[in-house]
Amino acid sequence: MRLILLGAPGSGKGTMAADLAREYQIPHISTGDIFRQNIKANTPLGQEANQYIQNGALVPDSLTIAMVADRLEQADCQRGFLLDGFPRTVAQAEALAELLEKRQLRLNAVIELELSDESILSRLSGRRVCATCGRTYNIDSCRPKQDGICDICGGTLYQRDDDKPETIRQRLANYYRQTLPLSDYYEQKNILVRINNEGEVGSSLPAVLSALKERS
Ligand code: ADP
Ligand code: ZN
Repeated sequence: MRLILLGAPGSGKGTMAADLAREYQIPHISTGDIFRQNIKANTPLGQEANQYIQNGALVPDSLTIAMVADRLEQADCQRGFLLDGFPRTVAQAEALAELLEKRQLRLNAVIELELSDESILSRLSGRRVCATCGRTYNIDSCRPKQDGICDICGGTLYQRDDDKPETIRQRLANYYRQTLPLSDYYEQKNILVRINNEGEVGSSLPAVLSALKERS
C-alpha cells in the first residue's frame, strides 16, 4: 500500500498516520519527524532545516526531495509506505511522481484530512508530542492517562517550538498557499479521498479504512 496523507498542520495527520502504518504494516515516513531527529542530533541536514522550521517556513524543496528519495530507497519501503507531511508543494509532488514512475510504482490513494481553522488553532496550541515515539496528545481534547507521559511508550511529552501562536499562523498561511493546491493536483489524478476529521481522535479511521479497501 502506497499512501499520502494531506492536511493542514494540526489536522490529525500524525495520529492517523500511526494508525494506518500499523494497519498495513508499512513505514510511517514523516518529513517533519525526520527533520526534528536531525535537529536533535545536530546533523548538517538538521542545522540547515532548523532555520526554516523555526520561522514556520518550509524547508527548501531540493533538500526535502533528496531526503525523501533517500528514505524511499530503504528496504522497508518495498511493501509500501505512508508519507506524512510530504509532498507539501507541487514541485515535491512532481518529483515524487517522477521517482515512482521510474520504478513503475503507483500511489493507491491520497487521503486529505479536513478541519476548520478554528479547530486547527485549538489543536495546535494544546498539542503535546512524545519525545520518544512522536505520538501526539492534546491538553484539552486528548490527554494522556498521566500528565506529561506518553501512554504508549512512557516517553516525556513536550510542546514543539513551532507550536507558538505566531509560528502557527505562518504555517497555516504556507499551507493554504503552497500545500492546498495539491488536493486539486491529486483530485485530477482521481486518487484523492477527502475525510472530515473534526471528530474525536481516531473516530475517522473506519471511514479511511473503508475508502482504502477499494484501492488496495
Ligand atoms: P505540521 O504538519 O504540524 O506542520 P510537520 O512535523 O509535518 O508539522 O512539519 C514541521 C515543519 O517541518 C514544517 O513547518 C516545515 O518547516 C518542515 N517540513 C516538514 N515537511 C516538509 C516538506 N515536505 N517540505 C518542506 N518543509 C517541510
Ligand atoms: Zn511515546
